[in-house]
Amino acid sequence: MKEVIDLKILVATERGSMPLDVSEWERLAKVEYVATQDEAGLIKQIADAEVLIPGWKVPITAKIIDAGKKLKMIQTFAVGYDNIDHKAATEKGVMVCNTGGSNAESVAELTWGFILGLFRRIPGGDRLMRAGKWGRFKSDKHTLIWGKTLGIVGFGAIGRLVGKIGRLAFNMNILTYDPYVIPETVEVFGGRLVPLETVMKESDVVSIHVPLSNATRHMISMRELRMMRSTAIIVNTSRGAVIDEAALIKCLQEEVIAGAALDVFEVEPLPVDNPLRSMDNVIMVSHIGTCPEVFIKMRKAGIENVARFLRGEKPMRIVNPSYIITSNS
Ligand code: NAD
Repeated sequence: MKEVIDLKILVATERGSMPLDVSEWERLAKVEYVATQDEAGLIKQIADAEVLIPGWKVPITAKIIDAGKKLKMIQTFAVGYDNIDHKAATEKGVMVCNTGGSNAESVAELTWGFILGLFRRIPGGDRLMRAGKWGRFKSDKHTLIWGKTLGIVGFGAIGRLVGKIGRLAFNMNILTYDPYVIPETVEVFGGRLVPLETVMKESDVVSIHVPLSNATRHMISMRELRMMRSTAIIVNTSRGAVIDEAALIKCLQEEVIAGAALDVFEVEPLPVDNPLRSMDNVIMVSHIGTCPEVFIKMRKAGIENVARFLRGEKPMRIVNPSYIITSNS
C-alpha cells in the first residue's frame, strides 16, 4: 500500500533498463519513466518531480533544473557527475548525489591492468604472436615497475586504491597531488602530498583520478606533459577532457613521453580517424572502468539512497554539500 502519493521520481530512461527492485520507491512515491533523447523531452516531464534519475543520453542542464520547480534531489547511478550542471543545482538548492566509491576496485584494477600492460608492452607482444612472429614488441621500452615512482593526480577512492596497490604490491614510491586532502591522509598510504609539478617531473607513471570540472578540464596540458620523463607513461581512467588530447597526441608522436593508456577520451565514442587509434605507444579501451558486476552494486546504492530520501533520512554521497546554504528545506 502507498504511504506517500504526492512525491514523484522521474527516471530519464526506459523502464526496462532499470531491472532492479524499486518496490520501495513505488510504495512511497509515483515513479515515472521518460525515454527521452533531448532536453525538451525532460523539461516537459520534470515540473512536478521531486527526484530526478538522469539517463545516459541527456545531460542535466541548468534549463532542466530550472524547470524542476519541486526538484530536491538528482541521483546519478554513476561516480562521475560531469553530465549534471551541479552549480545550477546548488543555486536552486537541489542536492546532487552519486554512487561514489562503489566502483573504486573495478577502476583501480583496470588502471593496474593498463600499467602492467604498457610497461611490458603486452598488447603489442600479443599482436606479434598473432601475426606468426616471435619476440618482444619494442624491447628497449620494457622496464620494471618494482620500486619506481607512481604519481597520482586526485587522491580519492580510486586514487587511494591505485596507490595502495602500487605501494604494497610493487614497492613503489607514491607521490600525489590533491588540493583537497591533508598530507597525513597520503602518509597513511605511505605516500607524499606534493605539487602537481613534482608529480609530473618525478613520476615513472602518472595516473589521473580527478572528477571533470572547470578546475580540472585540461589540467594536464602541453606544459604538464612536457615536464614528464621521456621514459614515463600516463594513464587516464577518469574523464578524457582532464587531459588536453591534442597535446597528448603531439607528445606521443614526438616521444616526449613513453606511452599512454586510456579508458576515456575527449569525444566518446572515439572517432575512427583519431590518431590515437594507430599509435603503438598507446593502449586503450572504450570507457570500461566499471564492470557489469559493479553496475548492479552501483544501481543498488543509488536506489537505496533515493529510498533514504523518501524515508526522510539524510541521503549519502552528496557531491554538492554547499546546496544546503541555498536550500530552503
Ligand atoms: P572521488 O571523489 O573519491 O575522488 C576524486 C578526488 O579528486 C578527490 O580526492 C578530490 O579531492 C580530487 N580532486 C578534485 N579536484 C581536484 C583538482 N583540481 N586537483 C586534484 N585533485 C582534485 O572519486 P573517485 O571515485 O576516486 O573517482 C574519480 C573519477 O574517476 C570520477 O570523478 C569519475 O570521473 C572517474 N571514473 C571513471 C570511471 C570509468 O569508467 N573510467 C568509473 C568511475 C569513475
